[in-house]
Amino acid sequence: KAAAVDFRPPGGVQGLVTPRTMTSIAPSKGLSNEPGQNSCFLNSALQVLWHLDIFRRSFRQLTTHKCMEDSCIFCALKSIFAQFQFSSERVLPSDALRSALAKTFQDEQRFQLGIMDDAAECFENLLMRIHFHISAESREDICTAKHCIPHQKFAMTLFEQCVCNSCGATSDPLPFIQMVHYISTTSLCNQAVRMLECREKPTPDMFGELLRNASNMGDLRNCPSNCGEVLRIRRVLMNSPEIVSIGLVWDSDHSDLAEDVIHSLGTCLRLGDLFYRVTEERARQAELYLVGMVCYYGKHYSTFFFQTKIRKWMYFDDAHVKEVRHSSACGSTRKMRRMASAASSLHL
Ligand SMILES: [Zn+2]
Ligand SMILES: [Zn+2]
Ligand SMILES: [Zn+2]
Repeated sequence: KAAAVDFRPPGGVQGLVTPRTMTSIAPSKGLSNEPGQNSCFLNSALQVLWHLDIFRRSFRQLTTHKCMEDSCIFCALKSIFAQFQFSSERVLPSDALRSALAKTFQDEQRFQLGIMDDAAECFENLLMRIHFHISAESREDICTAKHCIPHQKFAMTLFEQCVCNSCGATSDPLPFIQMVHYISTTSLCNQAVRMLECREKPTPDMFGELLRNASNMGDLRNCPSNCGEVLRIRRVLMNSPEIVSIGLVWDSDHSDLAEDVIHSLGTCLRLGDLFYRVTEERARQAELYLVGMVCYYGKHYSTFFFQTKIRKWMYFDDAHVKEVRHSSACGSTRKMRRMASAASSLHL
């Protein structure tokens, strides 16, 4: 919960970084959200895309695309990225992207102007639209285009299958692609309690296993040959995504689990722990570090992100940008400091 974290105002960091670094970074910018616009979900997704070094750098390389003129999400994203980089304004309007998004999803009645929507689904859809603009010839479930950032860097290519230990029957493997790995917060917390019952204290490698157990919980199927056995589904990862997004789903509007969820979050994730099996050696070895988090609190989205160039956690709440301060002794700040020190070993 953002409210529990300590901040100091932007501009207080100059003395801590070298002049060379200062000249090479564009300071973080806020995104405006006028009353009635309800753009915080889009602003959060946008801050994530801009601050992900892998995305920002790869997107910069892209030049040609299938243009959709005034509903072109690719053009709107190019334009706001140019403003992030070169504008002298501290707060930018995200209106052009908001309007392109609304026009693109008019038929589905999603992401319409003035209406609040879901940040994770917005993030997913922005990625899928980028795929459409740059590799429309490939189907989105089998895209292998080398320049397609969404599929090359973000997509998890999976199949799920049931295998019966009792009679040996197996179900047909079901292949699919996901941009966000969704997990129920209730399962996450229940599973965390169960896992802690059988160990002394939490260990760093627990987080991946916790996510795997939580996403398997309650997901039981009957044996494919109906021998009477009830089976857990097995998910196998077949590629090696560079960025993994986890979506925590709040099962009710009035969940009191926020504190428990925060305590069960880890800052390091081994891809090998997240799925039943991981086929690529590179993915099996991969250790990913937390670099960003979008929070939903009080019907409002805001974002924490680790800025690799200044090695600091920043907080983005629409137009407001603050550095997350590390000096206070309060619990949430300690947690953020742990996150920051974990993320600072990242080399993107
Ligand atoms: Zn365009
Ligand atoms: Zn693609
Ligand atoms: Zn069976």
